Amino acid sequence: MSKTVSIVVPVYNEELSITTLVGRISSVMEATALSYELLLVNDGSTDATGAIINEMVSTNPNLFTIVFSRNFGHQAALKAGIDYAQGDCVITMDADLQHPPDLLPSLIQQWQDGFEIVHTKRLNNNETSFFKRNTSKIFYKILNRLSDLQLEEGSADFRLLDRKVVNVLKHLPEGDPFFRGLVNWVGFKESYLEYYPSSRFGGKSHYTTKKMFQLALQGITSFSTKPLYAAVYIGFFFAIASLLYVPYALVSYITGHIIQGWASIIVTIAFFGGVQLLIMGIIGIYLGKLFMQSKQRPVYIIQYTNIEIEHGHLAQFRY
Ligand code: UDP
Ligand code: MG
Repeated sequence: MSKTVSIVVPVYNEELSITTLVGRISSVMEATALSYELLLVNDGSTDATGAIINEMVSTNPNLFTIVFSRNFGHQAALKAGIDYAQGDCVITMDADLQHPPDLLPSLIQQWQDGFEIVHTKRLNNNETSFFKRNTSKIFYKILNRLSDLQLEEGSADFRLLDRKVVNVLKHLPEGDPFFRGLVNWVGFKESYLEYYPSSRFGGKSHYTTKKMFQLALQGITSFSTKPLYAAVYIGFFFAIASLLYVPYALVSYITGHIIQGWASIIVTIAFFGGVQLLIMGIIGIYLGKLFMQSKQRPVYIIQYTNIEIEHGHLAQFRY
């Protein structure tokens, strides 16, 4: 039996690019003569995206859609796509054409050559803004330092996963999936493909600086408890350092200059207050994660999908 390729695309307010995206993917895939399905995960779009998708779905038998009940975020949309995809391999990519559909045949070729995960690595060109390039560099530096992962700089959620990998990811009970890390963590036979990103086709990036910062924190705290150890080291360092303060205090006492210590006391108190808050914050993040996980809430809620009708056996992912 010939193999099927699933292509999963999270879509959030992409009315400007969605039609072109579907057209480009369809023509690239039809040229390969492989059977494929294109699964568009509508992550609570509030513009015309949903209507455009429904229109296309009704006329294109390769097209499937999952509609979330609200915006659950990029990673949740990827999870839904991975949960529902039927193919022998699953390719995830962005809706804004920054991940070029022309690369699909090369990804599939690597899979047919026996690789179970095909990563892509974004090369920098002038299309990538100075800000994005550098924040991305810093993001991966910090992430690799503070977690036990070694992620390639410039990796994005554009990759191919074999069915074996998909089945593992599907059954991980993570309440807060971070796929860049998870895919790195599961192992399997991997390869890398390099590409130059295109510029965003329409609209603007949904990743604000705030969202990028949140993703960085999520990446770090989902994959390591190292930041908790940082608290121990910082505490130890300052405990030793403050011992040096004792002789100074004694000398001041003997020479009668006690009141002069005011400035240094204020500085010390302020500084340690800051350090303590920082460390409590780190502990708080982990505690929050435990709290959220303990509630066992689903990562996403589906309002509508046409998949069940077509495939008929996926009720276990419904909530
Ligand atoms: N996206 C999503 N939910 C969100 C934000 C983004 O599904 O809450 C999708 C978006 O439609 C796109 C992909 O995730 O297909 C990447 O988003 P974007 O292009 O805004 O991020 P960037 O490329 O700037 O990192
Ligand atoms: Mg983008």
